[in-house]
Order: sequence, then C-alpha cells, then structure tokens
Amino acid sequence: MATGMTRRDAIKLFGAGTLAAATGGVAAAAAADGGDAGLALPGVFAGGKYVLPKLPYAADALEPGCEARTVRIHHDKHHAGYVRGLNATLAKLDAARRAGDYGAVAPLSRALAFHAGGHLLHSLFWHSMTPKPADPPASLAKAMVASFGSVRAGQAHFAAATQAVEGSGWGVLAYEPAGDRLLVCQAEKHQDLAVWGAVPLLAADVWEHAYYLQYANRRADWVAAFMKLANWRFAADRLAAARNAARG
Ligand code: MN
Repeated sequence: MATGMTRRDAIKLFGAGTLAAATGGVAAAAAADGGDAGLALPGVFAGGKYVLPKLPYAADALEPGCEARTVRIHHDKHHAGYVRGLNATLAKLDAARRAGDYGAVAPLSRALAFHAGGHLLHSLFWHSMTPKPADPPASLAKAMVASFGSVRAGQAHFAAATQAVEGSGWGVLAYEPAGDRLLVCQAEKHQDLAVWGAVPLLAADVWEHAYYLQYANRRADWVAAFMKLANWRFAADRLAAARNAARG
C-alpha cells in the first residue's frame, strides 16, 4: 500500500474489491465483502448525549420468532431505561469532577459500565437480527472457519454460550484485533466477562425481558429463534470495519 495512505483512504480511492484483489488476505477479503461502514452504530448518540436509536425495522418484522409486543416493550421501556441511566450517570460523574468529590466514584463507575453496556449492547442487538436472514457472507465464513473450525461449529458455540449464560446476560460474537480472530463471549448483566479490546459483532439478549412474554422459561427456544433471525451480513460488515480500524 502506498506510503501515507490508510486502508480507509485506499478503499475510498480504489473501492474495497480492488484493494482486496491487490493485497490479498483474510482482512482484505473482509473489506471486499462490505463494510466500509464505521463501528459506531447509527442513532445512539446525538446532541451531546446518548439517545435511543430507532429500530432498524418495524416492530412486527421479526415475527414469529420475536413478537412485536416483546420488541416494543424491550426497546421502548428497557433499552430506553439504559439510555436514561447512562446519561444520568455521566451527569453525576461530571458533577463529581466539578466538586472534586469522588466519594461515590466506585458505585458510579459500576453504574457507568452497567448502563453503557446496556445501551450499546441493545443498540447492537437490534441490528443483530434481520427480517431477511441469510448465511454468513464469505468473509465472515472464512473468519469463522479460521477461528472455530467451521461455520457450523461457530454457530453452535455461539448458541450454546448464549443459552448457558448464568442469570441475565448476553451471548456475544466478537473480533479480537491482536489475534485477528473471532471469539465467542458471554456477558453477565451487560458488562461482566467482557474481553478488553474485543469488538462485539453480534449480540443475543437472554435477559428474561427479551423472551419471557413469548417463550416463558424456554430460553433454548428463544435462542433457537434468534439463531434463525441472526444478521450475519451485519456481523460481516462490522468485522470488516473492525479489521480496518485495527490496522489503521
Ligand atoms: Mn434486553
């Protein structure tokens, strides 16, 4: 690549496909598969504060696997609550700095991780499902084979980890830049068990509010429904963006 030209610059100039052909490799193939989109999700921050993003589809678009009533309550009540909690926590931290009073910094740090994790994972979650599911694109499939042995094994691992979260939490497919590989992680609550530096690509919510209205205690049925709705195209686009960001 030409000196002084970032990967992103090169993609803008030549197009992702041309760059992939020119440089080869898994990362280049990922770029070719899509996504010059950035990692910041749309509509999660505006006007100097965090905001509730719009759903990327109609509330009933995921039926029958995920019913409109659950989607509406989940988005309008639960997700909105994390946005409020995050902004309120940031305001309290701002007040603490102004006052030079850090007496509550430990519980505020805990609240920051909880509400920020809640807001960002839910923002990811809505895009992690699609009314038009399809198999993983070639770039993601290649990364799954390299990281998990096969696409099927990666999907089975993701579903099993999601199903087995202790209490309230998430299954998360993530990209770890140092190893240039995918990881399947669990998240307890929204923040515990996170791997620092890993970029979440796909998130499956297994808090009871995500499925109890429709599936009651049958979490496995909800996880199976999620896997049928999983948006592998979105995960592939985020993988390309994460790889571009990791390599500058
Ligand atoms: Mn949730």
